[in-house]
Amino acid sequence: MATEAKTPDTAAEGEDTDRSQLAVEEEKLEAAAKGERKPRQGAEMSNLDIVRFYFDRAVERLELADDIRAVFWTPYREVTVQIPVRLSDGITHVFSGYRIQHNGARGPYKGGIRFHPEVDIDEVRALASLMTWKTAIANVPFGGAKGGVNCPADQLDRTEVQQITRSFMDKIEKILGPTRDIPAPDVNTDAQVMAWMMDEYGKLHGHTPAICTGKPIALEGSYGREAATGRGCVYMYREAAPHLGLTPADTTFVVQGYGNVGSWAARIMQQLGCKMVGASDANGAIRNDAGIDANALEEYIQQDGVMTAYDEADAIDPEELLEIPSDVFIPAALGGMIHQGNADRMQCRVIVEGANSPTTPGADEILSEKGVYIIPDVMANAGGVVCSYFEWVQNLQHFRWDEREVNDKLGTVMRRAYREVSARAKQENLPLREAAYLVGIERVVEAARTRGYV
Ligand code: GLU
Repeated sequence: MATEAKTPDTAAEGEDTDRSQLAVEEEKLEAAAKGERKPRQGAEMSNLDIVRFYFDRAVERLELADDIRAVFWTPYREVTVQIPVRLSDGITHVFSGYRIQHNGARGPYKGGIRFHPEVDIDEVRALASLMTWKTAIANVPFGGAKGGVNCPADQLDRTEVQQITRSFMDKIEKILGPTRDIPAPDVNTDAQVMAWMMDEYGKLHGHTPAICTGKPIALEGSYGREAATGRGCVYMYREAAPHLGLTPADTTFVVQGYGNVGSWAARIMQQLGCKMVGASDANGAIRNDAGIDANALEEYIQQDGVMTAYDEADAIDPEELLEIPSDVFIPAALGGMIHQGNADRMQCRVIVEGANSPTTPGADEILSEKGVYIIPDVMANAGGVVCSYFEWVQNLQHFRWDEREVNDKLGTVMRRAYREVSARAKQENLPLREAAYLVGIERVVEAARTRGYV
C-alpha cells in the first residue's frame, strides 16, 4: 500500500482532473527542465528518489560492488502502453499504462496496479522496487513489480473503469502469467478490477484464477485478503507495543487516508481496544479526542461519501492531522505525505507505514531526532502481498482456506518479519527501515547469485 487505498489523500486539492494527459506530461517536463518539483508533489523528493536513497544507503553498508548495485538500480523490464478510451463525455482520452518488473530472482514478479492521475513511469519504478524488497523481507517467494494507469479512476464510472482495465490487460498480458507476473489491487483498484483482469486474461488463456490476487471471494479470492494490509499493520503494532510500553487500552491513533488499508487498520486497532482520534481521506480530515468509531465512520463513508460531514467528529485542515497528539500515526494514503516541511509538527510516538513511501529521508531524520519509532512500509504494509501469496497458493490448488487460517498464517509471517528485522536493527544499531533494506537486499542478491544471474 499501500498499498490499496480506495480514497487516498492527494496533495491536489481542487485539482482539475479533466486535464489531458498530454498537458500533464508537458507540465512535468517543464518542471524538470527548470529543476523544480513535479507539479502537485508536496515532498522535497520524488518517490523514486526516496526509494533509491534507502537502497543506496543499504548498498554502502553491505559493501555491494558497483556492478551488483547497477543490476538493482533499474528494473529488469518496463512496458509502457497506450490506452485510448472513449469516455462518457464522448471524447477519446489517451491514458498511459505501465507494468514494470523490477526483479524476479526470488520468484514470479508480484505487485499491485494503481489507477491515479499522478501515476508516471518513475513512480511505478519506485513502487516496483519496493515490492522486490518487501517480498524478500516478508520472505514470500516472489519478485517485485508494479503497474499503473494515469487515469482519474475515482472520477470515472464503473463502465469506464472496466474499459480501461480490460484494455490495459490486453496490452500487458504477454508479460504476465501465474508463474511470471501476478498483479493485485493498489490505489483505486479493488476486487472488482481484479475480476475484470482475470476475466480478460481468461479470454485468451482459459480460466486462470492465479493470474491475479485480491479477487472477489466468488472468483477464488482469498478470505482475509481485503483486510490483510491493514491487519498486517496491526500485527506490527502488536509486536512493537510491549517494547514501547504501549497497551491497546491506552493507545490512541490517527489514520491518514481512510481507504482500504487505513480503514481496515483502524477497525482492527479498535477491536484490540485502541482509540482513533483523527482520520483523513481525499475530501478532508476529522478529529475527536474523545474517540471516533472506526466501524461507524466506514459505514458512514460507504453511505454518504463525505468524511468531513461526519457529525461525530470535527472537520479540520488535513495538515492539522499530523499535529494531533497520539501514540500511533498510520499514513495510509500516497507517497511523500510526511516530508521535511511538516515532520517536525508530528505529535506521535510510533508511525506504522501503511502506504508505500510515505516518509522522505529528510522527514525520517527529523522524526528520529524526536524519538519517533518508525515501522517502515517495506515490512509494515507487507500484509497485502503476504495474503496475495496465500491466495495464489490456494488458486494453484483450487483449494480454499477459512479466514481464521489465513489470518493466523498472516500473523506468523508478519511476526517473523518484524522479529528478523528488529533483531538486525539491534545487532547493527540501526533504525528498522535501514535494517529492513539490509535483510531484503541480502536475500535478493543471494537468490540472484545462486541463479547465476549476477
Ligand atoms: N499493492 C499492494 C502493495 O503495495 C499489494 C501487492 C500484492 O498483493 O501483490 O503491497
